[in-house]
Amino acid sequence: MFRLHSRNASTVKPIRVAVAGANGRMGREVVKMLVEDEAFSFVRGVSRSQAGNDVGETIGLGPIGVTFSDSLETALLEDRPDVLVDFTVPEAVKRHTEMALELGVRPVVGTTGLTEQDLTELARLSEEHRVGAVIAPNFALGAVLMMMFAARAAKYFPHVEIIEMHHDQKLDAPSGTALKTAEMIAQNRDEVQQGHPGEKETLEGARGGYRYGFRIHSIRLPGLVAHQEVIFGGPGQTFTLRHDSIHRESFMPGVKLAIQKVMELDHLVYGLEHLLKE
Ligand code: NAP
Repeated sequence: MFRLHSRNASTVKPIRVAVAGANGRMGREVVKMLVEDEAFSFVRGVSRSQAGNDVGETIGLGPIGVTFSDSLETALLEDRPDVLVDFTVPEAVKRHTEMALELGVRPVVGTTGLTEQDLTELARLSEEHRVGAVIAPNFALGAVLMMMFAARAAKYFPHVEIIEMHHDQKLDAPSGTALKTAEMIAQNRDEVQQGHPGEKETLEGARGGYRYGFRIHSIRLPGLVAHQEVIFGGPGQTFTLRHDSIHRESFMPGVKLAIQKVMELDHLVYGLEHLLKE
């Protein structure tokens, strides 16, 4: 277990956190945040490729005395963290979240690619075990505000399309953020026929993916991190909301909030917006 700062004796007990995907781009950022914040105690990193190595040394912090484990189950059973933060891959995240809930460890999940059915099943498991969980497709505060503002704008501008842009190593498309934005828009938007009813694609995929009656477009390029535009159109005007994460540190305040809030939950919360004060 490791913290950079010595803790004031009067402060509360730090929250013990393990990180799955700790050697990944997001996982490394989470580990840095955890070891620099005295509210947390980083107890284990999980990585299949770095087992036994010192996490700090591997990710450029210098030795911190916490090693990687290649088994999430062993980490959860032996280290007994309060919270598991997961930034891995779509194919592993459901299994990881189920395992944490079954072992009484609260999951905070940033990995995208979970389906609606996955979310329903995980919510049921969370309630059954009375173990809190937070799953958020985007932990950046600005992105969450963009989603909330988009939902409000959809009341007045039902014609809408989403363009999401990410780095070219992203595995799922469209992004979890785009799907969540679409869901929030759909809850406020009157159903309308968008575009010309006789529209025909002469190049497959040219009009993007179709969800809730409107289109989502995905761009993948090196140099990008995570960006999204929600474009509304009405007679004689367009209205664009845009958010850019230009560095992965943009997600850390949201991850920190989720770790703190999940300690008070006994059910699953999907979306950071539900943890923000109005
Ligand atoms: P990444 O750099 O590729 O890291 C993923 C890590 O997962 C890898 O380091 C890998 O570590 C591990 N992994 C790969 N396959 C695995 C498997 N089958 N089982 C267990 N672990 C496995 O990816 P990233 O950019 O950090 O993104 C991770 C996830 O977070 C993605 O789903 C992305 O969309 C999402 N994301 C979410 C947010 C948000 O705010 N919610 C923000 C950014 C990204 P080892 O090979 O060492 O095991």
